[in-house]
Amino acid sequence: MQNPINVAKFGGTSVANYQTICNCAQIVINNTTTKVMVVSAAAGITNHLVKLANEALSSEQITDIIEKIHQIEIAILSKIPSAQNVETKLYDLLAELESYARHEEINYRDDVKDALMSMGERMSSLLCAAILREKGANAINFDVRKILRTDERFTQASPDLAKIKLLAEQLLLPELEHKIVVTQGFVGADAQGRTTTLGRGGSDFTAALIAEAIGAKTCEIWTDVIGVYTTDPRITQHARPLPELSFEEAAEMATFGAKVLHPATMEPALRQNIKVFVGSSKEPDKGGTWIKRDCDHEPPFRAVTRRKDQVMVTVKTPKMMYAKGFLERVFHIIAKHELSVDLITTSEIAVSFTLDNPPNSMSEKMNKETLIELSNICEVTVERHLDAVTVVGNNMHSEAGVSSKIFSAISAFNLRMICFGANVHNLSFVIDESHSDEAVRALHRALFE
Ligand code: ADP
Ligand code: ASP
Ligand code: MG
Repeated sequence: MQNPINVAKFGGTSVANYQTICNCAQIVINNTTTKVMVVSAAAGITNHLVKLANEALSSEQITDIIEKIHQIEIAILSKIPSAQNVETKLYDLLAELESYARHEEINYRDDVKDALMSMGERMSSLLCAAILREKGANAINFDVRKILRTDERFTQASPDLAKIKLLAEQLLLPELEHKIVVTQGFVGADAQGRTTTLGRGGSDFTAALIAEAIGAKTCEIWTDVIGVYTTDPRITQHARPLPELSFEEAAEMATFGAKVLHPATMEPALRQNIKVFVGSSKEPDKGGTWIKRDCDHEPPFRAVTRRKDQVMVTVKTPKMMYAKGFLERVFHIIAKHELSVDLITTSEIAVSFTLDNPPNSMSEKMNKETLIELSNICEVTVERHLDAVTVVGNNMHSEAGVSSKIFSAISAFNLRMICFGANVHNLSFVIDESHSDEAVRALHRALFE
């Protein structure tokens, strides 16, 4: 394909009901370069599915949740004028969903969990394609599992980039000549064809991966805010949208809690220099944020982010001073359990690090086995109810006064851990969750208002 291609992704609130999907369809139709529409599950559906997958529920409780899912999906279906064709397909998907939800090993088998978790996006893409067709577009619903090859780490799968490119060129690109393809975010398949998922919020990542695989020039992330803000607009009304951001800044913000983008979204964009746009599907005319390689300005302070539900682990041995290889043994255990450490500080006899463990994630990170193994070699303390707050910016290590400005803004707070220096784009600290809102507001006031 010669012309530039745009991939447009629409999140859960954007595809929550018939009217919001109509707004999305209009956005797709208005931009003739948009050839791929990546959709999330309708708002609320994935949380229902996580419950079905992870909680030991009675048959009545399962029925109740399934009923709620039906209501959301059928409400959309009932508004589509010529829905006969998709109606049967939607009921088939709902029946498939129920069979996984009632699977006797649903709480223990991650492969069954992922099959269940994928259903929200599969229903959503079916309905969005139908609504696009109703608006006159030549749209098809495309099963992303044909191209989005991953490893078999169910619930947290990693993409196989080479395979995805190959499969997308063979199976997706030819469709784009004359059609708009609607496909599922968040979902993939392993080499055996078993359904996998990319982790919560993974649809942004899917859009960027598809954009990379088909050589798209732009990737739009349509959501419920008019761009990436100086901080989460739910924390302070003074947050304001940013017209531009660099790939590095956006990656840093996403990693440290700006939920508007999945943390891995910037990787494909950075590799292929794909410009990423973030805007509101409800108010597309209000513009948004362009994320790109080179920005007009590189200010020392760009944004403040907050990441909730951090678990802080401190491992301590009085012998550490002399014990060569202690750190190696600790991190061997961490790596074996596939835990990803975010922040870390060390002293002569102790190391503290944080792990991310958000609610509604698919598995408990600091699990019993890891704790037992660590306790065999040292004293271990686990603290919960903590948040990480991060200031994101540029050249933070070389600009005079950066840290004093930050620390004087938050001098009233008790900080549990501070990380600064390893990365020129961020300064992070860990704080009790009951104070993090206030700390973000204090920082935002000092740095941006
Ligand atoms: P979607 O369902 O479209 O993927 P998400 O809920 O995942 O949307 O992400 C959008 C939300 O991200 C916003 O409603 C906002 O509350 C939150 N958010 C957190 N940090 C930021 C930020 N810095 N800028 C914009 N939104 C943010
Ligand atoms: N539906 C999935 C979730 O809620 C993926 C996404 O929306 O990006 O996590
Ligand atoms: Mg999201």
